[in-house]
Amino acid sequence: MKHPISYLYNTVFIPKRSIQICIIGGGFAGLFTALYLSKYTHLIKSLRPRIILIDQKEHFLFTPLLYELLTQEVDSWEITPTFAKLLANTAVEFCHDTVEAVNLEQRQIELRSHKQITYDHLVLAVGQQTRLDAIPGITNYAYAFRSLADAERLMQKLQSLETDSKKHIQIAIIGAGGNGVELACKLANRLQNRGQVYLIDRRQKILRDFSFACQKAAHRALITCGVKLDLGTQIENFAASQITLSKNQQTYTLPVDLIVWTIGTQNWEWLNNLNCRQNPQGKLLVRSTLQLFDYPEVFAVGDIAAIHHPDKQKVPATAQAALQQARTAASNLRASLTGKPLKIFRYHHLGEMMTLGINAGVVFCCGICLEGSIAYTIRRWACVLRLPTFNHRLRVCRHLLSAAFRRVFPINQQPM
Ligand SMILES: Cc1cc2nc3c(=O)[nH]c(=O)nc-3n(C[C@H](O)[C@H](O)[C@H](O)COP(=O)(O)OP(=O)(O)OC[C@H]3O[C@@H](n4cnc5c(N)ncnc54)[C@H](O)[C@@H]3O)c2cc1C
Repeated sequence: MKHPISYLYNTVFIPKRSIQICIIGGGFAGLFTALYLSKYTHLIKSLRPRIILIDQKEHFLFTPLLYELLTQEVDSWEITPTFAKLLANTAVEFCHDTVEAVNLEQRQIELRSHKQITYDHLVLAVGQQTRLDAIPGITNYAYAFRSLADAERLMQKLQSLETDSKKHIQIAIIGAGGNGVELACKLANRLQNRGQVYLIDRRQKILRDFSFACQKAAHRALITCGVKLDLGTQIENFAASQITLSKNQQTYTLPVDLIVWTIGTQNWEWLNNLNCRQNPQGKLLVRSTLQLFDYPEVFAVGDIAAIHHPDKQKVPATAQAALQQARTAASNLRASLTGKPLKIFRYHHLGEMMTLGINAGVVFCCGICLEGSIAYTIRRWACVLRLPTFNHRLRVCRHLLSAAFRRVFPINQQPM
């Protein structure tokens, strides 16, 4: 039987209750899915969708600029806008809570606050966490670098080391992937002649997932920054003020004041208990439409998703890929609500950008590689353009332009 109100609208069926769409995780994948979806609500108005974004934090984190916090090249507000501000004037409601479990059969989300939310459609976008159990002692002695809290902890430690003006500070960064290389350059620039940064990796090569041009540029930048590269080196164990390493069958110790661990990621505990298909690394297996295999009403996007492509296309765990998935997920959610065919997700690699110290970087796009301060500036503005919402972009833009203006026309401080 048709719902009575549907006669008022002639042929449009209006459901008794609104369709509830829940998005868990407000990172690149989840927040952008919510924002794209919010733009579609006028197209699916008849379904009266209720879009709820759940995140354990009150703010989004723009991770590519997290390094710049350590060198005070950005202010924290620029890269951590609150969800309340970002979602004001959108159709998305924000729920500040931590998800502890999801029952896929009953379509129910359990929150830490003991509340339960039921959904008609769900987007899982909770990202991953740094894996800190690879070697004994990591959790006790090493710092992770993934969240704002990690960056603040690291800055506190650096400040306490820097207060002793006579101290020669030794920092070891473990892992010469993107995270390790960018961090090493920034920390070396911050320390200058106050200490030494070591970049340690068991492989012989830095940045193995990056283009050759970026590898070469990063190598040059590491040397310029004075970072000591310890490649082909295995970590044996950690202690409070030293690391035991082995290289070419020789074991030796390196005295350190600070260790930063950048290798490996793992799932949140509760995700492992989800009753759905996962790959050997614990990532959720999704169809090329980004839907879970046995639950078409559930989408998984971002770092937690392993996309099963007919042509075996590999999708990296990057913000670039998460943003592209968010667009497809939102469009496919709309399609499944309106009975239209769903799109197949295809990843388009747009290029690579890295920060390689203060006012230095590399940009590699369409076969062209730029280095130094020009690359830094391009990357900085590309990041501004990728910030969520027009209003936040505008605030950051104004701030950057006025800082640039002050640099060019410094205001003379008159002595009183
Ligand atoms: C320091 C750093 C620099 C990076 N730089 C780049 C770069 O330059 N370019 C690039 O392409 N990629 C970069 N990346 C990778 C990029 O950040 C990730 O690939 C991207 O953030 C993945 O997006 P996501 O939405 O899947 O997860 P995330 O962005 O991690 O978001 C997950 C969200 O889920 C929330 N959440 C988690 N668990 C729960 C729960 N139980 N309940 C409620 N909420 C929960 C979290 O609070 C978080 O907001 C960088 C990563 C790091 C750590």
